[in-house]
Amino acid sequence: MITLSGKKASSGIAIGKILFYKRDLKDIRRIYVRDIDKEIQRLMRARDKAQQELEGLYESSIREVGEVNAAIFEMQQQILQDQDFIDEITRIIVEEKLNAEYAIQQGAEQFIKYAKKEDIAYGAGHAVDVRDVAFRLIRTLSRNWKDRLMGDEPFIMAASELYPSEVVQLDTSKVKGIVTMHGTVNSHTAVLARTKGIPAVLGIGEVLKEEYDGKQIIVDGNEGRVYIEPDYALVQKMQKQQNENRTEERNLERLKGKENVTQSGQKIDITANIDSREDIETVLRSDAGGIGLMRSEFLYLDNTKLPTEEQQYQMYTLAAESMGNKPVVIRTADLGGNKSIPVLKTGEEKNPTMGLRGIRVSLEKEDMFRTQLRAILRASANGNISILFPMIDSVEEVQRAKILLERAKKELKDEKTAFDEHIKVGAMVETPAAVMISGELAREVDFLSLGTNDLTQFTLGMDRDDKELEPFYNKYHPAVMKMLRIVANNVHLEGKRISVTGDLAADTSLTEYFLEIGIDELSVEPDQVLNLRRRIREV
Ligand code: PEP
Ligand code: MG
Repeated sequence: MITLSGKKASSGIAIGKILFYKRDLKDIRRIYVRDIDKEIQRLMRARDKAQQELEGLYESSIREVGEVNAAIFEMQQQILQDQDFIDEITRIIVEEKLNAEYAIQQGAEQFIKYAKKEDIAYGAGHAVDVRDVAFRLIRTLSRNWKDRLMGDEPFIMAASELYPSEVVQLDTSKVKGIVTMHGTVNSHTAVLARTKGIPAVLGIGEVLKEEYDGKQIIVDGNEGRVYIEPDYALVQKMQKQQNENRTEERNLERLKGKENVTQSGQKIDITANIDSREDIETVLRSDAGGIGLMRSEFLYLDNTKLPTEEQQYQMYTLAAESMGNKPVVIRTADLGGNKSIPVLKTGEEKNPTMGLRGIRVSLEKEDMFRTQLRAILRASANGNISILFPMIDSVEEVQRAKILLERAKKELKDEKTAFDEHIKVGAMVETPAAVMISGELAREVDFLSLGTNDLTQFTLGMDRDDKELEPFYNKYHPAVMKMLRIVANNVHLEGKRISVTGDLAADTSLTEYFLEIGIDELSVEPDQVLNLRRRIREV
């Protein structure tokens, strides 16, 4: 038995025969052509055909993986129609007098490099999408292409790298699992594998050898492990776990559409946290009551430039419209600390976690903050949006943030741009200071949100990410538990709402306590919504 490790891209266990999928892109021949016009015409015909295919794929994937994820194929249409992309390919055909297939393959790689340099989002962050489009073009040009994606028997698909359009079209009754040499947890490929519920371990590296083709393997997406020719005992153990997982899934599935209500009739809201655009679809599928925390800093962390007002507006609107009437809490960028970005130039800090971060950054970088506030306000015209300020330490910080918010509102009013005039404002309680003045803070805002991840680390004086500290890190420390009660009481005395958005919110050993102290809302990772609902219904 051989054990390989990779990235946990999609949870679940799959057992079966491994089959290698090859596109033969490497076999594309470099052919010298005399008739350049003909080659360009072939390219243009391929582009039209690929465009039609992508339009069809967009429509069919809405059913499969939801509208937000299907948008991947709208983005791929943009790549296909990008003049720089086509120019790069035609340049190779014209200047080097080479065949279209070869020019597409080379042009795509050039375009990926160029896009990275120029910071074009779909080129830089999504090289795999550019290659997906290029491969589609090449395939439409070669008449003899045989699609090897579909075997007759169920199997586990192995590949050097899999493209989003390939994953979205996989027949889940045949493809039981995915393993690849290259690929990341946040790629579109991984997102689609998760949405389709196919266990996947990506980025295993070259140790995933083609000589394993046809062998029996186990994919453990929960642990990021792959076992080649596993022994009998392991197969039995994994089969048992697989059956348990399936039963658990079915049981949780039955809770969709049900209320978050205890046996005695006490209700509590369950919402979900999101860290990416793709999470929106996961929230919709999780049956959460809305988005309780959008960590908007993801918009800043993926790029080398600051996100524009328009980019942010599009993102927030997408979230708000996808949720319908359900609430969407957008936390303003919690940058700094371990979420630092080069453009901020905050300088070297001895202790970034206790440095310029959260609201402090926003108040320092007023232009950046103004752009974000304008984007959130504009998006608030399209749904049920609230604003949440992170890392609050004082009443003055909230007041200053609110002054800037009022300024942004006035600007929009003067420009006659629509926004929700009654947009709700909240503050995060993530430091002991905020706990002690939670009553005063509550007076300033509409709701408070307990960020128990940071609150615990600052209360215990221990880094939340330090593995070495695990034996000392008591996440149930009585000091933290008392703080939660104090904050809940203070907030309710002011007649305002209190939510918990840190990891503790999903901890079912604390559900009874949260109900007892009167927490109004728990915001958790989307895949924990139903488990938490089950616990609440048992209390
Ligand atoms: C928290 O600190 O608990 C929180 C919700 O914020 P983040 O995890 O993003 O720091
Ligand atoms: Mg925090």
